[in-house]
Amino acid sequence: MNDESQKEKLRQHFARRVTTQARVVLDTWQEINKDRNLAGALRDEFAAATDKLVRYAQRFEMASHAEAGTRILELLKDWQANTPLDDDLERPIQDAIEALSRSTLRRTDQESTEAPHQFRRTPVYIALANEEMAVRLIRQLEFFGFRAEAFTSAEKLIDACALHKPETILMDVNFSGVVNAGIATIEQLQERHDTPIPIIFMSDEDGSIETRLRASRCGGEEFFYPAVDPGQLIEKIETYTHGNSVEPYKVLVLDDSRAQAKYMETVLRKAGMTAHIITDPLQIIYALEEFSPEIIILDMYMPGCTGMEIARVIRQQDRFHSVPIIYLSAEEDVTKQLHAMSLGGDDFLTKPIDPKHLVSTIHNRGRRARSLLALMIRDSLTGLYNHTHTLHLLEQEIVRARQKEQSLCFVMLDIDYFKKVNDTFGHPIGDRVLRSLSMFLKQRLRKTDHIGRYGGEEFAIILPDTRPSDARNVLNEIRERFSELLQPAGDREFNVTFSCGVAGWNNESSQALCERADRALYASKEQGRNCVTLAES
Ligand code: GH3
Ligand code: MG
Ligand code: MG
Repeated sequence: MNDESQKEKLRQHFARRVTTQARVVLDTWQEINKDRNLAGALRDEFAAATDKLVRYAQRFEMASHAEAGTRILELLKDWQANTPLDDDLERPIQDAIEALSRSTLRRTDQESTEAPHQFRRTPVYIALANEEMAVRLIRQLEFFGFRAEAFTSAEKLIDACALHKPETILMDVNFSGVVNAGIATIEQLQERHDTPIPIIFMSDEDGSIETRLRASRCGGEEFFYPAVDPGQLIEKIETYTHGNSVEPYKVLVLDDSRAQAKYMETVLRKAGMTAHIITDPLQIIYALEEFSPEIIILDMYMPGCTGMEIARVIRQQDRFHSVPIIYLSAEEDVTKQLHAMSLGGDDFLTKPIDPKHLVSTIHNRGRRARSLLALMIRDSLTGLYNHTHTLHLLEQEIVRARQKEQSLCFVMLDIDYFKKVNDTFGHPIGDRVLRSLSMFLKQRLRKTDHIGRYGGEEFAIILPDTRPSDARNVLNEIRERFSELLQPAGDREFNVTFSCGVAGWNNESSQALCERADRALYASKEQGRNCVTLAES
């Protein structure tokens, strides 16, 4: 399925109730017009249908439907039940009906054409007993660029996962109203996947240790009891999808048996990870430098040294102090295993290794390691690199550019009149704008570019191997597209623009480079904002 039709499906999901109800109202009105003698009998039915429409339309923020419905309700006050419809009243009701009919049509027209900004992502699945909550969540998730889908039956959820593995599933413990049915569904579902799907469980009724354990055993990463509000859930869903499972884990394997190493490589690659294999323990330092692994798997016994000795050497380097180390061995002596763990290991796997066990251990270790690292280097609101880490990356890229004799650009970006966004729509909406810009940048820049939140509404971008004129063109393109993006705020919408300063690296210090980009940004602001300025060299 392409992006366009996914988007369409998603929009329809929450629009459906409103448009379906609008059709009920339109149909009832048609009945009334068919036979004026029966009109009086249909008056209450018509009013009830319209009232429901207004409630749905308000809940799902479809302003024109709500407006037309409210107008009809207003007019109906002058029409008593079981009395004929007054001619004076018919005309204005007909007008409101036409408005409703137009917006019902317009809505579907827009859905197919007005979706130029699709965020590409694997889906998030939602399986809640509370359907209304599910619809609200989908509505909000869409805002953050997620593709979300709600399910009401276990079979459909399992089928969908087989077809399209989601990034995470939000699961009600008592899915479909049956005690622990949600956990049972997940247990059944995870059986079919080599790598477990991270699950966010929630429950309004049961926070007992037994239930929590069972949930955690089948891939439950979070357990909300009592259930929380949609805002908090979205934050969680974000943390489980935000760059976490997007990038494959980088796993370094050291095993002196070439056959064993090859086997591991095949298993890891099949699970979508990036594996780097070495069979000579003396290559370890070089491999760490070159490959920068996120997880290390060490054979316990090798000629010349043991895995434990290698682990100690690895831990002596600051950079690899917290990288998870997993030992691999035929060793079944628990005392020796414990000893190995005490020397800087995190886990122990016994040969022959069950591929499923291996992959799920790596996933668990890897995810934890990443989230710990994220706390240190990422900004919590946007998930982008924080100020300190951005500068650290800039230093690194300058070293690399010098070595490889490549060009490098640094960009400072600042949202225009952001204070006004906060003042007009409130701070939470301002926060959403910051998120939407950060997702927009992530989506449009290359994987090799680094994006940081420099502070407040200021962003910094590092573009390795890029010439200044190319950087300017790319940023200009992004600037134009972003300025067209509609930012929703309740039933209103607005646009936001930003200004940029682009500086090409001149063999100077990172500090000097930042200053030039900042001056160029200031020049963009001076020129009236919503533009990109190239710093002079
Ligand atoms: P200019 O076009 O000159 O950049 O105007 P501006 O209003 O964007 O700039 P100014 O520096 O006057 O205001 C920045 C505002 O950004 C003020 C501050 O309240 C807001 N801001 C900073 N950090 C955050 C944040 O994390 N969330 C939200 N919602 N607002 C923030
Ligand atoms: Mg600003
Ligand atoms: Mg500012």
